[in-house]
Amino acid sequence: MNSSPTFFDGGCTCRQVRYRLNSRPLFVNCCQCRWCQRETGTAFALNALIEADRVQLLAGEVDVVDTPSLSGKGQRIARCPTCRVALWSNYGGGGDAVRFVRVGTLDDPDRFPPDAYIYTDSKQPWVVLPPGKPAFAEYYKASELWPAESLERRTALVARTSPR
Ligand SMILES: [Zn+2]
Ligand SMILES: [Zn+2]
Repeated sequence: MNSSPTFFDGGCTCRQVRYRLNSRPLFVNCCQCRWCQRETGTAFALNALIEADRVQLLAGEVDVVDTPSLSGKGQRIARCPTCRVALWSNYGGGGDAVRFVRVGTLDDPDRFPPDAYIYTDSKQPWVVLPPGKPAFAEYYKASELWPAESLERRTALVARTSPR
């Protein structure tokens, strides 16, 4: 870990929007649900979960689009206003505390492989999951799966963002 960078840059295809993650994400989900399949036009979505205040806009602004979601609570997808590439989203009507950053928009997406596979019930049959990685028919409990450091960050985030 010694030579690991402490930030990770990404952006849209037309390069109008550039952003920086100011630390590693909390966790990386590979979601095989039909909704993610439709939104990406492919077999799954790869989302790096990270505190919103660790995502810094370096250039441009995002256009936030209200979009239906599997839970029924909706999601807000932040897109480049020009090329419309989706950069991150927020789920569950829970505000902007945690962003689901689309790993494929990072300059070095290879750095964040999935920590867990979710909604594998609707996995496209040709997708072969690597053995030994956590996989769930639907979702999981973060308290049972996330590393301790990420759970501590989540606790700190809740303390910071909860209304008093
Ligand atoms: Zn763009
Ligand atoms: Zn999904």
